[in-house]
Amino acid sequence: MANADIHPANAPTLAVVVPAFNEAPGLRAFHARLRTVLDAVSGLATRILFVDDGSTDGTAALLEELSQEDAETAFLVLSRNFGKEVAMSAGLDHVDADAVVIIDADLQDPPELIPEMIERWREGYDVVYAQRTARRGESWLKRTTAAGFYRSMRHISTIEIPEDTGDFRLLSRRAVEALRRFRERRRFMKGLYAWIGFKQIAVPYAREPRHAGRSRFNYWRLWNFALEGITSFSTIPLQLFTYLGLTAALLAFGFGAWIIVKTLLWGDPVAGYPSMMVVILFLGGMQLLALGVIGEYLGRLFDESKQRPLYLLERQQTAAADEEAGPTAIDRAHSA
Ligand code: UDP
Ligand code: MG
Repeated sequence: MANADIHPANAPTLAVVVPAFNEAPGLRAFHARLRTVLDAVSGLATRILFVDDGSTDGTAALLEELSQEDAETAFLVLSRNFGKEVAMSAGLDHVDADAVVIIDADLQDPPELIPEMIERWREGYDVVYAQRTARRGESWLKRTTAAGFYRSMRHISTIEIPEDTGDFRLLSRRAVEALRRFRERRRFMKGLYAWIGFKQIAVPYAREPRHAGRSRFNYWRLWNFALEGITSFSTIPLQLFTYLGLTAALLAFGFGAWIIVKTLLWGDPVAGYPSMMVVILFLGGMQLLALGVIGEYLGRLFDESKQRPLYLLERQQTAAADEEAGPTAIDRAHSA
């Protein structure tokens, strides 16, 4: 906690962004473990920024306590629940540090990995992402669907999303600045991290089961998450129907030609009702599906075109250490 006194005023800074939604039961344990890790880090001034994503279980009150006890802890409270992706973006918007770590509040991401991430960052990497080697406490179905998703993303988009990675990562200042420039409303962070490029490297770790509370990511949410990923980074589903349509048209043409030949050669017996139904239903289904796919994209276009703010803040508490320190690094930069 006395980090600010040990390190000179111009030491590089590390900020840890923690999105938290109804994490009250485990938050104190998380903070203590993170604090232990950060206290052992040398040569860096550290800050913790919690983002309360509209919790209803007293997370905000607990954050208030934590920020009073720890001079290096700050927090934001969003005006309602905006979802993890937006909560992280709010955090990234409000930090001013040379390196930023994003970590879950449920201790599934071990804070003990942070020193190794810092090492890699000092070696010159801009994005140091944690890569799971084991997913303990997650079902077989979740693991296989996740693997399938990454594999198909690699095929249908131009960006390369590393498999078995989450949001747990360290970002350099310029990576954070790059991410801040993305103001899209429907955001798929895993894709954005890959999009920005720069030097990236993995640090392997074993993912723990949730510490307290329960995951909010059920299968329906995961499916929507996957849709978000696909529609944000690929237009292949749209193009797919061009080719399906073309194929269907060619088949229909061939079939038509065959009927003509057949009628000329063998006369014209009454055509079958079942085959008619199959063709009508098949084409009707395909058309609805194609409309649905267009709708997914159109809906997202509609969301973007409204240009609404990404989130609203209910409250913002800066770290006591920053209040004492006077002008922040941003102010210094502006007056220079
Ligand atoms: N989270 C959030 N907003 C939400 C849902 C989750 O900020 O709407 C936070 C949550 O508090 C946790 C992290 O995102 O710190 C990961 O959430 P969770 O553990 O539910 O996801 P999982 O580990 O199952 O991917
Ligand atoms: Mg979790």
